[in-house]
Amino acid sequence: MSTPATGHVDVAIVGGGMVGASCALALAGSGRRVALIESVPLESGRQPSFDERTTALGNASRRIFEALGVWPQMQPEAQAITSIHISEAGHFGVARLDASEQGIEAFGYVVPNRTIGTALWRALEQRKDLLLRVPAQVREIRIAPEAVHIALESAACGPETIRAHLVVGADGAQSLVRAASGIEAGTCDYGQVAVVTSVASDQPHRGRAFERFTAAGPIALLPLAHERLAVVWARAPEAAQALLEAGEPEFLRELQQAFGWRAGRFSAPGHRGAYPLALTRAAATVAPRTVLIGNAAQALHPVAGQGFNLGLRDAAMLAELVTGQRGDAGDAALLARFGEVRGGDRAGVTRFTDSLVKLFGDRRPGLALLRNLGLLAFDLSPTAKRELARVSAGFAGPVPRLARGLGLSKP
Ligand SMILES: Cc1cc2nc3c(=O)[nH]c(=O)nc-3n(C[C@H](O)[C@H](O)[C@H](O)COP(=O)(O)OP(=O)(O)OC[C@H]3O[C@@H](n4cnc5c(N)ncnc54)[C@H](O)[C@@H]3O)c2cc1C
Repeated sequence: MSTPATGHVDVAIVGGGMVGASCALALAGSGRRVALIESVPLESGRQPSFDERTTALGNASRRIFEALGVWPQMQPEAQAITSIHISEAGHFGVARLDASEQGIEAFGYVVPNRTIGTALWRALEQRKDLLLRVPAQVREIRIAPEAVHIALESAACGPETIRAHLVVGADGAQSLVRAASGIEAGTCDYGQVAVVTSVASDQPHRGRAFERFTAAGPIALLPLAHERLAVVWARAPEAAQALLEAGEPEFLRELQQAFGWRAGRFSAPGHRGAYPLALTRAAATVAPRTVLIGNAAQALHPVAGQGFNLGLRDAAMLAELVTGQRGDAGDAALLARFGEVRGGDRAGVTRFTDSLVKLFGDRRPGLALLRNLGLLAFDLSPTAKRELARVSAGFAGPVPRLARGLGLSKP
């Protein structure tokens, strides 16, 4: 590599989106030298992670953000989910989950991605111990036995090479770090595009979230601050395109018809965005001197609102392991331990999400009846509800210290 070595760090994180920025903040103050490289700045309209979407944060994620000191900046825009209503259009089965029945304040909180980004990046910019490179283009990643060499170019510093003991791939589903490490990834295209927007309603939402499965794809309606509802509507690509192009009255009519009247009469739709849906799964999350977290490791269908929550637990556990050990941050035993402790959560949430998409997408005769009996049985079973609430809140498998409200401990 021809560029001069300008930085020597323990950990270089490539990708400063929702998961990479959280990981950098968790590692700041750990005593480790950390670099964060991001190609698209927060303020850019093209920022792919902190965009118009909203994210349903489980209680574990809220605790992690509290422990990182950024929850107070998010809270004014956070709307608590106090009940969840699951149904299938045209069928009898309905399941309801109520936070008070589970003895919790809320199942989670819906926060605009831009609010999350602003809170994380403002906190990162105050950390003088971080090497921040944004916007920066990664030119090459070379993984050698003793270190990783990342050649990049930024407007602020020009061409340079950062040498790291560990490279963290937090660079999304098309991860460059994953490709450089030789880790294979499999993709299963769901043949759906999520149309994302928000609407107002003539009824107060009272913290209710709805998941409605329809023959044409699932619709999630999430309560937002300021009495709006976030809409995530998965449709076949051509139907999604038609929804994007429809005028406002036509769009509202289609949504109302597909969702029904349970959440009131919809009005005032916001900006509409589109996200093609696929399951992308790396064959492994670790390789020599490399870790993959967030979407770089697994990008999921948004039906259960689990992708970021899972990725944030990846980030919290990685920060815990790297902080808790002296010496080489890319040590093979440390990486093996990461793969081991995150394996169960990753496999469980991926399987759960994928099964939900396939179960409710299966149009074979007789299956609708079984699904609806299942929903009814679930509705009548307090144990099943308690277990689902616990798992989807992010308390399954080894729980990272930050998600238990504890700080990270140095050796
Ligand atoms: C419609 C929709 C709704 C969703 N809702 C929820 C929800 O309610 N709850 C939930 O938990 N999850 C949800 N998710 C999933 C969630 O959005 C993702 O899991 C999350 O964005 C993953 O974050 P990430 O940082 O791993 O990846 P990304 O968000 O893809 O961010 C990757 C970052 O890396 C940067 N980058 C990429 N390549 C490079 C490079 N070469 N060099 C430097 N930087 C690079 C990008 O600019 C970006 O900032 C939803 C997803 C969709 C599509």
